[in-house]
Amino acid sequence: MSSAPSHISEHGSSNGNGAVVLEDVQKWFGDFQVLRDISLQVAEGEKIVICGPSGSGKSTLIRCINGLEAHDGGRIVVDGTTLTKDIRTLEKIRSEVGMVFQSFNLFPHLSVLDNLTLAPKWVRKAKRADAEAAALQLLERVHIADQAHKFPGQLSGGQQQRVAIARALAMNPRIMLFDEPTSALDPEMVKEVLDVMVELARQGMTMLVVTHEMGFARAVADRVVFMDRGEIVEAGPPDTIFSAPKHERTRAFLSQIL
Ligand code: ADP
Ligand code: MG
Repeated sequence: MSSAPSHISEHGSSNGNGAVVLEDVQKWFGDFQVLRDISLQVAEGEKIVICGPSGSGKSTLIRCINGLEAHDGGRIVVDGTTLTKDIRTLEKIRSEVGMVFQSFNLFPHLSVLDNLTLAPKWVRKAKRADAEAAALQLLERVHIADQAHKFPGQLSGGQQQRVAIARALAMNPRIMLFDEPTSALDPEMVKEVLDVMVELARQGMTMLVVTHEMGFARAVADRVVFMDRGEIVEAGPPDTIFSAPKHERTRAFLSQIL
C-alpha cells in the first residue's frame, strides 16, 4: 500500500495535487447510462487497476478523467482542479494528466524525438534544445534512446508503446492514465511495456490503469477496481479481490481471465 501522502494537512484535508476524486459520476450516451454513481478516491502516488468485461465503461471512465468525454453528473476533481466544460480547465487538466491508449496514437510523420518534443515546445513553450535533452532522457527511461531518430512505423509495437509512454511523460504529468496499453501487442512485447509501467509505478506516479494483466495488478496495484455494466461492483487490494471476491459478478469475470 502507499504510505500516507505528504500533502495531507494537519486537518486531514488534501490540496488534491496528484490525486483524483470521483463523486457520484454519471454519464449517458443518449438514453444508455454508461457510468452509474461512480465514486472513487485516488490518493497521490496510488496505483489503481481497473478491470471488467468489455463494454462495462472502463474506457469511458478513463476518458472522463481527462475530459476527453464530458460527464453528465457528479464531480471529478483531478490534481486539485474540478473538471468543467471550460476550455481553460480542460487544457490545464490535459496538460497535467498523461494518457496512453491501446493503439499507440503516435504521429506517424514525426520522428520519435519529434513526437516527444512537440507538446513541450508548443504547449509549454520549451526551447528546442531543452525539449530534446529532456526527450532523450525520457527515451532512456523507457530503454529506447537508440531509436530517437526513427519514425514510428519503423518500430515494433512494444517499442511504439514505450515511445507513447515517454511522450506522455514529456509533459511532466502528476497522473498517468492507461487504457489497455498492452492489449494490441504481440505476446512477446507485453513484458517490455509492463516493465516500463512497473518502473514508473515504483517512482511514485499516480496511475489508473485499465488492464487485464493480473500479474501487473499483483505487482503494483494498491487497489483493483472491478467494473461491470457502468458500475463499480467492488474494489480492494489485489490479494483480496483475486482470492476472495465478494460478488458473484467479480468471481465470474475473474474465472475467465485468471
Ligand atoms: P469498456 O472500455 O469497458 O469496454 P466503453 O467505455 O468503451 O467500455 O463502453 C461502454 C459502453 O458505452 C459500451 O456499451 C459502448 O458501446 C458504449 N459507448 C462507448 N462509447 C460510445 C459513444 N461514443 N457513443 C455511444 N456509445 C458508446
Ligand atoms: Mg475499453
